[in-house]
Amino acid sequence: MNFEYSKQSLELQNKLDDFMQKHIFNNEKEILEFRLDNPWKHSPKLEELKNLAKKEGLWNLFLPRGYGELSPGLTNLEYAPLAELMGRCSFSSEIFNCSAPDTGNMEVLAKYGTDEQKNKWLKPLMNGEIRSAFLMTEPEVASSDATNIKTSIVKENDEYVINGRKWWSSGGMNPSTKIYVLMGKTDPTASRHVQQSMILVPADSPGITIVRPLSVFGYLDSPEGHAEIELKNVRVPKENMILGEGRGFEIAQGRLGPGRIHHCMRLIGAAQRSLNLMCKRVNERETFGKKLKDYSSIRQDIAKSACEIEQGRLLTLAAADKIDRFGAKVGANLIAMIKIAIPQMACNVVDRAIQAFGGMGVSQDTPLASFYVYARAIRLADGPDEVHMYQLGRNLVKEQLTK
Ligand SMILES: Cc1cc2nc3c(=O)[nH]c(=O)nc-3n(C[C@H](O)[C@H](O)[C@H](O)COP(=O)(O)OP(=O)(O)OC[C@H]3O[C@@H](n4cnc5c(N)ncnc54)[C@H](O)[C@@H]3O)c2cc1C
Repeated sequence: MNFEYSKQSLELQNKLDDFMQKHIFNNEKEILEFRLDNPWKHSPKLEELKNLAKKEGLWNLFLPRGYGELSPGLTNLEYAPLAELMGRCSFSSEIFNCSAPDTGNMEVLAKYGTDEQKNKWLKPLMNGEIRSAFLMTEPEVASSDATNIKTSIVKENDEYVINGRKWWSSGGMNPSTKIYVLMGKTDPTASRHVQQSMILVPADSPGITIVRPLSVFGYLDSPEGHAEIELKNVRVPKENMILGEGRGFEIAQGRLGPGRIHHCMRLIGAAQRSLNLMCKRVNERETFGKKLKDYSSIRQDIAKSACEIEQGRLLTLAAADKIDRFGAKVGANLIAMIKIAIPQMACNVVDRAIQAFGGMGVSQDTPLASFYVYARAIRLADGPDEVHMYQLGRNLVKEQLTK
């Protein structure tokens, strides 16, 4: 693997950093306060910045080269440092139309959608005119094993009828969310991995009730939010099926590739900014006659954090490089490794920074508290740590047995 970034990636890194310095960090407080005071409304400032980012060509950077004219032409390896830069601010990836769950949903539509599905849903998503949600997890079943998902999708003439209850549908509270990618069962009698399908469900379909927003350690993550959603006899045209009945797992495998390592890339940015803030803070404060930076325990925390961030960064780049060169299937072990290692690393690094900040660290006056909540939630949201370990362990044993 070549550790040098390409010219295109370096140019975009400079441009993106410049944009963030000029327009994002100095508006961060205002945008976050607006969100706290106006849940489920869009900050006008954020919308303004989206238009500016689009004009400057900092838009849809996530879609890798293989997607032809839909892609800005970057590989995953080239995109990784850009996502890291975005990760330094909790909402900035949305400004560049590079935020979850839309990135994963756009990838699904770009990869598996029909022309009609692409025209109707992918185009406005890529233009940033609408947002989307991914509806898999259900309150009634252990959803870390997706074969348990039991929402029913039944064909009736030219329509599918959907019944079930979903929760943790990120983006589900957002007034701009117009389309759901829903996973459910079309054939409960089929073999385990072909029972499920993915289907497009317009958010305004009759029979849909947004039951409530779920909070994450008290954060509503507005305006996207995480919704509990009830679907009662929801009817959609048969053309809304993605790829075909029974192919939900096949799509999920595709969705688990590049789109799902973006959280890891962003978390490295969150961890790096936390460390940078920590270094500045410990130079400012003094206790018992000396600066915090001169305590051995503080220096150890800084040194450990720097090592862990760099290890995580290199592992993430290795995973991105493997996906680029050999595909997500061959990269599966490295993908699992970063999903196990990076959110935990970010939790540890942010936690040390919080401690060094004292009481301020858990308040709204630094981004640290929200970074911690993000990193901790990703240990579940991107699939629980244990599930990635379960699969990685199985693969590694299997590899040895077949050698
Ligand atoms: C902030 C946030 C955002 C989310 N966004 C979305 C979204 O947009 N769309 C969506 O569909 N879902 C979303 N989720 C849901 C998330 O994907 C699920 O919470 C996750 O898959 C776990 O499913 P579960 O909650 O049903 O936990 P369960 O399946 O009940 O698992 C509970 C625990 O059991 C343990 N466990 C499970 N399997 C194993 C194993 N093999 N070995 C050892 N221990 C194991 C783990 O500790 C696990 O955490 C989000 C979750 C959060 C917190």
